[in-house]
Amino acid sequence: MTESLTNLLDYDPGGLVAYCAGLGEKPFRARQLQRWIHQMGVADFDGMTDLAKSLRAKLASRATVASPAVITDHISADGTRKWLLDVGNGNAVETVYIPEQARGTLCVSSQAGCAVNCRFCSTGKQGFSRNLSQGEIIGQLWMAEFALRRALERSGATAERVITNVVMMGMGEPLLNFDNVVGAMRLMLDDNGYGLSRRRVTLSTSGVVPMMDRLGAELPVALAVSLHAPNDALRDMLVPLNRKHPLRELMAACDRYLAVAPRDFITFEYCMLDGVNDSESHAKELLALTRDVPCKFNLIPFNPFPDSGLRRSNDAQIKRFAQILIDAGVVTTIRKTRGDDIDAACGQLAGEVIDRTRLAARGKFGKIPVEVREA
Ligand code: SAH
Ligand code: SF4
Repeated sequence: MTESLTNLLDYDPGGLVAYCAGLGEKPFRARQLQRWIHQMGVADFDGMTDLAKSLRAKLASRATVASPAVITDHISADGTRKWLLDVGNGNAVETVYIPEQARGTLCVSSQAGCAVNCRFCSTGKQGFSRNLSQGEIIGQLWMAEFALRRALERSGATAERVITNVVMMGMGEPLLNFDNVVGAMRLMLDDNGYGLSRRRVTLSTSGVVPMMDRLGAELPVALAVSLHAPNDALRDMLVPLNRKHPLRELMAACDRYLAVAPRDFITFEYCMLDGVNDSESHAKELLALTRDVPCKFNLIPFNPFPDSGLRRSNDAQIKRFAQILIDAGVVTTIRKTRGDDIDAACGQLAGEVIDRTRLAARGKFGKIPVEVREA
């Protein structure tokens, strides 16, 4: 009868209060319940010892706490860990944990596949199946945090919190699954949830302009914008969404977002593609484009995947490009590639997607839109 049980991971803090009210319980019970689930990782209602026995029995008969089942779990030589999670009907999504010296970052997926279809992205290449539910999104953090914490405890260490930062940078375009992503992020920020500050939760978008405004109004977390090109002609080809929301609109939206953002800059992500967007004149054009937007640049060396037809810019070219931005006073970092031995690097997350848009079949993917320079 599992089908008829309510999954409590599908509730944000307000939703859990309403659910408990429906059971005749006061809001503080919802907060207690939420702490058991999201701060202690307890899924078994019997173990929630400060709840009345009658409430525990009620919950056991009608609710569950269930994250997507783990299909595979790989650990990279550099400590990066990638889980493949079953989200039903042949779809699977990926979650990646990236340990660093003073923090642990979880890269969370928001959709099974992605309809934006960026030219250089293996998730986009797979097409789109569906939005993840709130439970499937927060379930990634819930599963990962407690799997990591239990592993540490087994090794004799104590850990209050393993995951200190979340980036909505896995599979999918988070702003095209707005409500479920925002619900999950409310739990990430909640004091009775994961208690992360807004600066430690970053949402990355390909530039869904109206939804950037909504995010700013409802839950302004740190924002990363996937830019990848300094002009509309090139960006139209690399990020097809640009045809709907061109760069001028996108820059204006960044500016509006900054008025409410928890950080005083936008992070621009820029995937370095050999011979496509990595010339010195591209860098100069980029400086002119972003002149009025306080920003930092994060250059991502392209991570190849089969049949992409694209190549990573070489290190010297990436350094030259970065130096032009740095010399103009813009903080610029080159993203270290982590976990590439287990295909966990940016843009390599592929999971399994039953493509409902049939992009590949319609021939919408596969043509190289720009000339690729020979090595
Ligand atoms: N859909 C969102 C978030 C997921 S993608 C977005 O596009 O922003 C996370 C980041 O990885 C984006 O900046 C994306 O452009 C980048 N990316 C995608 N494919 C990549 C690849 N093959 N190599 C390097 N970065 C890639
Ligand atoms: Fe979607 Fe982001 Fe990949 Fe573009 S880069 S296809 S928006 S996941």
